[in-house]
Amino acid sequence: MPELPEVETVRRGLAPVIEGRRIDAAAVNRPDLRWPFPDRMAERLTGQTVLRLRRRSKYLLADLSRDETLLVHLGMSGRLLISGAQVGGFFYDHPAPARHDHVVLEIEGGARVTYNDARRFGAMDLIPTARTDAHRLLAGLGPEPLGNAFDEDYLLARLSGRAMPIKSALLDQRVVAGLGNIYVCEALHRAGIAPQTPAGEVGEARLRALVPIVRDVLSEAIAAGGSSLRDYRQADGELGYFQHSFRVYGREGGTCPAPGCAGTVARIVQGGRSSFYCPLCQR
Ligand code: ZN
Repeated sequence: MPELPEVETVRRGLAPVIEGRRIDAAAVNRPDLRWPFPDRMAERLTGQTVLRLRRRSKYLLADLSRDETLLVHLGMSGRLLISGAQVGGFFYDHPAPARHDHVVLEIEGGARVTYNDARRFGAMDLIPTARTDAHRLLAGLGPEPLGNAFDEDYLLARLSGRAMPIKSALLDQRVVAGLGNIYVCEALHRAGIAPQTPAGEVGEARLRALVPIVRDVLSEAIAAGGSSLRDYRQADGELGYFQHSFRVYGREGGTCPAPGCAGTVARIVQGGRSSFYCPLCQR
């Protein structure tokens, strides 16, 4: 499932292909993904120029010239493929139509953007640009973890007295938007905080230290995505996925990579999700 850095990588790959260009044609090949597509979506997209491609949490937001914004969420298995255009150092010819190509946009100048989603947990909607923040999927979201509103005082105030585990608190999208399982595990490991610790008992100093750690973990992953874009070799022009090196995520039984720690990475289940952590250096 794509997390914030992957979605940001998709945004950075897609923006130069579509920003400032018109959507010459749109094909919408089924009535829905996770929810029904908006009414007359193909018609409403056709002829619009993409002014800007933004990201909020894990949502891509394409602001269009007629004051509507196309919201795209990749869900579990959504993929955006670019063909007929240069991406990084590579050019992809248009592929043959494939199963699960649900939305296909023909872009002015010859590029094609294909949304393919086998499991259809993704979503698309068209909303008035001025009311983007009020959309039901965006309205309750907390601050962006890389934005100025997510700072030490904010996190302290937000988690003060909370009994829920710090892992669950950081996954709560109302506390901070776009953080997912992988990067919460990684951030808590770097911060030396056990995922089961009640959020209100982590302590002020360690909570404050967590803010720059969260930013670092995400920024490093975005940077890794950026290098994957420059050195772009996926077979089909798919955007956004790249090789990660995780310290604890998915490494149950592995040696803890923290300097001087002899611990072994463990896995527990919290709220139905796996938490990977080191019982020795995370307390
Ligand atoms: Zn350790």
